[in-house]
Amino acid sequence: MKKNELIDPDFKLIEDTVLDFKNIAVKFLSSVENRDHSNKYKKKISKALPSDGQGIKLTTEEFLKDIFPYCTPVSGPRWFKLIVGGVTPAALMGELISSTMDQIPDPFSGAMAASITKDTLEYLGKFLRIGDFSGIFTTGTSASHIIGLITASEWIAERHNIDIAQNGIQSLPEVAMFGATPHVSFIKALRVTGFSRKNLQLIDHLPGRESMDLNHLEEMMKKNYSKEKIVIASAGTIASGDFDDLEGVSYLCKKYNAWSHLDGAFGVFARCSKKLENLIQGLEKMDSIAFDAHKWLNVPYESGLFYTKRPDLQEKALKVTDTYLTSDEDVPFFANKGIQLSQKFRALPLWFSFKAYGYDGIKNIIENNCDLAQYLSDWIDHSDEFTLLATTHLNIVLFSAVTNNNHPKEMNEINLRIIDYINSEGKFACGTIHYNEYEAIRIAICNWKTQKIDIDIVIKTLSNAYKFIMSSPKLEA
Ligand SMILES: *Cc1c(COP(=O)(O)O)cnc(C)c1O
Repeated sequence: MKKNELIDPDFKLIEDTVLDFKNIAVKFLSSVENRDHSNKYKKKISKALPSDGQGIKLTTEEFLKDIFPYCTPVSGPRWFKLIVGGVTPAALMGELISSTMDQIPDPFSGAMAASITKDTLEYLGKFLRIGDFSGIFTTGTSASHIIGLITASEWIAERHNIDIAQNGIQSLPEVAMFGATPHVSFIKALRVTGFSRKNLQLIDHLPGRESMDLNHLEEMMKKNYSKEKIVIASAGTIASGDFDDLEGVSYLCKKYNAWSHLDGAFGVFARCSKKLENLIQGLEKMDSIAFDAHKWLNVPYESGLFYTKRPDLQEKALKVTDTYLTSDEDVPFFANKGIQLSQKFRALPLWFSFKAYGYDGIKNIIENNCDLAQYLSDWIDHSDEFTLLATTHLNIVLFSAVTNNNHPKEMNEINLRIIDYINSEGKFACGTIHYNEYEAIRIAICNWKTQKIDIDIVIKTLSNAYKFIMSSPKLEA
């Protein structure tokens, strides 16, 4: 580094950096639809690290040459693999300001940030009609599951007059947890919180669905009558976007004294639409709810949420006490309810989104995505080449190629070859997911920019892929 770039009295370097940033952002965002979707990054980036630094100009050039071309269009309108979402302009503005000013939402240094965070959590609570819940931002649903289990444990401790902080999780009576389709992030939360796979008992699905069979749930609750109980319900399962009957789950939880925790990572937003709200009736009866803003609300990672009706228990478990962390300020201290002490001002992108687009604007993203999923689903339903493997409840379409005798093994092989074909074309991204005996093709639509024209590209590519694969000789294994 020729001169010390960390001394910049006239803000020239900062200004140049911000202008360069603007160019890079525009270059990426305007190219996102036409970038290669195949994620075939293979290039080795130079690992050389000059001890005196090469300066920000050269580093930016290196980034543009060696890294930028390989960044996937994961935030674009045709990234249907995983459930990702993108970044709206308002969310981007909030994110950039949050990073630029580096505010912390706490009463000591960021009373403004803490207060806006509180408002944003209330907007969201109203949007989902869980206004009497108390919420916090987390890094994602994975972290929210951990807080859910910690809060539920504290509830069990309260019922038995146990001090977990003093005596550990092992001082609790035996805990049985029930769920039909728990996400892997919940399994991880078991491990993190000192529970194990043994605590979890899988409940049967309703025929042809991923939704919980409530008769089986009740049977299992009776069987485990003497144990403490937690039910893990789903709103939007990962494979088919299916929903548990939350009214029914909550009824059984009351009857058998169980805590109800909901994984609503993306599916919780069915709640904001008159067309979809039926799927998620009873949401307000859950004890705790974990979900993401970084998926369907189209704000940048990492923005997750945890809402509960028992913030007192949450705080009992997670409060930090030290003299340097006390304050008379009348703003919340979110570190008392979450895992992290320091945390970024995550609320700002969402605050910008709510202000800029209103509840209606955000609802339109959700409904538009579901309409497009239905459009694709209808095409598949009428196609001779593909068949639906599950009902399209929300924004996920789960399907398979058909073969002469529709043997799953054969269908799976064709599905994987179709994904290879899609990757080699690179016009959109999707993948397969294990579903019953199938390697099912799954398209998940969660991006604010996705239009019918994007789904038409999917349809055309799928059809071309099918014809190509069925007419080419089978490769020998
Ligand atoms: C994405 C997802 C999770 C995990 O959320 P993260 O934000 O990745 O931590 C949990 N459950 C479901 C249903 C999901 O889709």
